[in-house]
Amino acid sequence: MPLQFQIQREPRKGGGKKKGDPRQNLGRFLGSFGTGLLIFFLLIALYSILTSSQEEKVLVSLSELSVDVSKGMVTSIEVDGDSLKATYADGTIKSSKKESDNALTSTLTNYGVLPSQIAAVKIDVKEPGGAGYWILNLAPFLIPLVFIGFFIWLLSRQVKGAGMQAFSFGQSKARITLPQDKKQKVTFKDVAGAREAKQELMEIVDFLKNPKKFLDVGAVIPKGILLMGAPGTGKTLLARAVAGEAGVAFFSISGSEFVEMFVGVGASRVRDLFKMAKAAAPAIIFVDEIDAVGRSRGVGMGGGNDEREQTLNQILVEMDGFEPNEKVIVMAATNRPDVLDPALLRPGRFDRRVTIDVPDRNDREEILKIHARKKPFAEDVNLRVVAERTPGFSGADLYSLMNEGAILAARENRTKVSQYDLIRAIEKVMLGPERKSHLLSMEEKKITAYHEAGHAVVSSVLDYADPVHKISIISRGRAAGYVLHLPLEDRKLQSKREFLDDIAVSLGGYVTERMIFGDLTTGPSNDLQVSTALARDMVTKYGMSEKMGPVALESAGGRVLFGKGVDEGEYSERVAAEIDAEVKSIMTEGMEKAEKTVKTHRKLLDAIAERLMEAETIERDDFEKILVAHGVIPKKKKDIEHQP
Ligand code: ADP
Ligand code: MG
Ligand code: ZN
Repeated sequence: MPLQFQIQREPRKGGGKKKGDPRQNLGRFLGSFGTGLLIFFLLIALYSILTSSQEEKVLVSLSELSVDVSKGMVTSIEVDGDSLKATYADGTIKSSKKESDNALTSTLTNYGVLPSQIAAVKIDVKEPGGAGYWILNLAPFLIPLVFIGFFIWLLSRQVKGAGMQAFSFGQSKARITLPQDKKQKVTFKDVAGAREAKQELMEIVDFLKNPKKFLDVGAVIPKGILLMGAPGTGKTLLARAVAGEAGVAFFSISGSEFVEMFVGVGASRVRDLFKMAKAAAPAIIFVDEIDAVGRSRGVGMGGGNDEREQTLNQILVEMDGFEPNEKVIVMAATNRPDVLDPALLRPGRFDRRVTIDVPDRNDREEILKIHARKKPFAEDVNLRVVAERTPGFSGADLYSLMNEGAILAARENRTKVSQYDLIRAIEKVMLGPERKSHLLSMEEKKITAYHEAGHAVVSSVLDYADPVHKISIISRGRAAGYVLHLPLEDRKLQSKREFLDDIAVSLGGYVTERMIFGDLTTGPSNDLQVSTALARDMVTKYGMSEKMGPVALESAGGRVLFGKGVDEGEYSERVAAEIDAEVKSIMTEGMEKAEKTVKTHRKLLDAIAERLMEAETIERDDFEKILVAHGVIPKKKKDIEHQP
């Protein structure tokens, strides 16, 4: 888990409960459902109490009552709607009912009571009305209504709880980090390496801190800054750090959050977001993963998505609408700058582009140090060695390496993280966890051992291949076994000779299986994919094929070049066939090279495979001993691995 920086704009409902947890939602639902039911029953009870009379009354029929009236026993009758309440001379009270349409006097007359006898009785007609009357009459309609209303309210609450916020369309979903929020504050100190990027961004920090200085000399500060870099290189982190350094409000939203099912919502989110940011200026708006909305419009891939286009247009409109003295800066991050719409990259928009590289060895050490801050380490820990062994790791990989190391130590009930924990964590991050439970049959074990030994032999013998660092036939993630290589230094450039040797190394497993067992398994399929892709890139991207010559047939990021879709049909069938032929010839060459190597070093191959079957893992020192014993000189260590 990356650090939790984000604060929720809306206070969460339901205390500190996580809103995503379905069990808690259910519990809450059942809770309020129970309350609803209780209220319902109470209403019913109230209703029945109101309808039934409060006092015990003697019921008499209308004819009996008429007889009593004619006998002069009744002193008064109270008429309330259809019900009658007769008070007798002796004080008893009896009740009765009359027909609803007839007046009491005419009813009594019909029963043969004389007018004079009626006149002797005090008849008191009550106006229908009063709260009780209304409740009684309306309750049958009201109760279901109240109940339905209650349910709607309940459902709307659940929907909100589920995070859909059905009733707040268009409100920007941005998360805001305010400068006074000390706990979530990130500064440049928390970002290791990325020196050039930090330098570029320092200017922005300066402007946000002291805009007057710039505006006074008529300088126009870029509105948009695009951070580009591989996943996990710290783009999001850097954007936060800029806000932290400058002490301004930070509005962050991810590109994919803009794209919603409902048309128009993305655009209105953008409007809300910019309005909020302007009100809080100086501020930074950060659109993470902007390629989700900012893909080239109208290019075949991904299809035309109206919603996305509207959102993108709205971002552009808002950015164009900035006054020169508006202290709002838009930052965006992407790992696919090649697919971005050219309109976004135009001057006046995201014209300032900052590239963040994958960290080199020194940067890796710095990053490790940052993530080592709160961890207790044993004396033997040497972060420099860890940094050396992790070429190609991004900041995020290193973060999770440190975390895995600590987890390993805790699992084994140690209070300090040791170097061994960190070394094991490297492989875990690289290849996934060991699958010790995955038992290989003897046959499978032998095939895997020879396969990996084949890779190892080729890479130890060929001049431009990376030296072997570790071999294992313990399956990890999806791999049945693996050979870890260690490049001699961090390389920015790779040469054709290295690529050719790499391809031969990849095919080392394949040729060995065929040579030893006279058969092939599905094992080398990944090797084949990787090496074929590399051969293809050599031909189409790097101009490394003699036959095709110095042409780049594809752009770096695939088949789209700054908005211009390089269609499948861009090069002719004939060229496509030539490419295929070239790829095949490179692969065949690599295979022959690998085959020759394992054949001439058959004894070494057997020795490595045997050791693997026995020990399952061979570390570098042991491996080099085997090499020397078979007359192969291990590759120079250069200055890798200083011992502590
Ligand atoms: P990105 O946005 O480029 O994919 P993030 O900024 O989300 O990468 O980085 C993920 C995590 O990796 C960060 O939260 C941080 O812990 C770690 N990290 C990445 N780069 C660095 C760095 N240069 N220094 C320190 N930590 C880093
Ligand atoms: Mg990110
Ligand atoms: Zn392999």
